[in-house]
Amino acid sequence: MPEVNRAAATSVVASHVVTGDEAGTVWTPGEVVWADGVIQYVGPPARGPVGRRIEMGEGVVFPGFVNGHGHAAMSLLRGFADDSRLMPWLTEHIWPIENRLTPEDVEVGTLLAAAEMLHAGVVGFADMYYFPGAVVRAAETSGLRAMVGRGLAGGAGAQAAVEEAVALAAELAGRGGRVAGWLAPHAPYTVEPPLAAMIAEAAQRHGLAIHIHLAESEEEGQQVRDRAGVSPIGWADEVGLLTGRTVVAHGVYLTEPDIARLARSGAAVIHCPTSNLKLGNGVAPVIALERAGVTVGLGTDGPASTNRLDPFQEMRLAAWLQKSATGDPAAFSARDALRLATRGSARALGWDSGVLAVGHWADLAVASWWAPHVVPHADPLSTLVYATTPGDVRYTVVGGQVVVDDGVITTFDEGAVLRESMNRARALTPS
Ligand SMILES: [Zn+2]
Repeated sequence: MPEVNRAAATSVVASHVVTGDEAGTVWTPGEVVWADGVIQYVGPPARGPVGRRIEMGEGVVFPGFVNGHGHAAMSLLRGFADDSRLMPWLTEHIWPIENRLTPEDVEVGTLLAAAEMLHAGVVGFADMYYFPGAVVRAAETSGLRAMVGRGLAGGAGAQAAVEEAVALAAELAGRGGRVAGWLAPHAPYTVEPPLAAMIAEAAQRHGLAIHIHLAESEEEGQQVRDRAGVSPIGWADEVGLLTGRTVVAHGVYLTEPDIARLARSGAAVIHCPTSNLKLGNGVAPVIALERAGVTVGLGTDGPASTNRLDPFQEMRLAAWLQKSATGDPAAFSARDALRLATRGSARALGWDSGVLAVGHWADLAVASWWAPHVVPHADPLSTLVYATTPGDVRYTVVGGQVVVDDGVITTFDEGAVLRESMNRARALTPS
């Protein structure tokens, strides 16, 4: 790394570096060096001069996870109204509380989620929620990357909400930070065709990405077919919401023509296995989607329907569900699951993270592999995906900034956020 200012560079040396590249390269031991927010070196330990070197010993450096779908502030509603079906869960439990949320609630809830994600090695998240300005403030405070959009649904004020989303995206693009805006129509059952057309037109005119829940439940599919005579994917395609920059959350109930439409449009799908299982919504056809050329990423969905923002849990479930659905344990490997959580989600969001390679964003995490549940390290990919937990993560680095340093969040007061979250959740939810 001859042209790098070595005093400004940071490096980590560990017994394992899982690069997450297409060839599945693993260095044992390995070193990763970054400066100016970009990876400068990946390979065997070179131990050249740097401003700071982290010596991890028995541990793993890996590409930071990208959480491709969620509603971060719903962490305040964690554990409330569990064990219910999607529609009654939304209409009887979640929406009445959400009507009372303030921007301050959303900012604190998003910081709570950010703390949880940072401790789990997440470097960025995709969001859809209310009060996007509050989500932006929390994301910027946390140091995480984020795609932020107000959930757009029908009713009075929908047009103004679209205009506000466009203005926020333009403002964030002008700022050039780690947080960007997008258009987030909620779902086919909450977005009427005129609003869908307005969003599609705005996305095209301003070059914005779209984030939408599609083909999540059987009930949704039935509703859309009864109303529009097509599947949710078909509906989205016909109203112009399926573009090369569309990120579809869930994609569980898909026909072969749906998968072909997704592939043709260039839209990506974010698989949310925990949420799908918990709400009894079935198994997304991940293998068929990838085989058709669709980019598939991984997401937690909101903490109210997932309870934990844990990419390790999502990777394990993604692998196990595909093995179970196909009856073939070789059909979907640890490496496949890691790809979804890193490169897959990053590609879906248009980010340059998800792989440890020279020139890419320095978005990475480091976990200790010195604990009973991760020793020995017979196969590093297996250990990372099937055995590692958020509690093992010691460092999370976003754009070269060490945001979790030896287990401590450096960007905000985690204890204060926990206390404030408890107070606000108590006030919001009936006991
Ligand atoms: Zn969702």
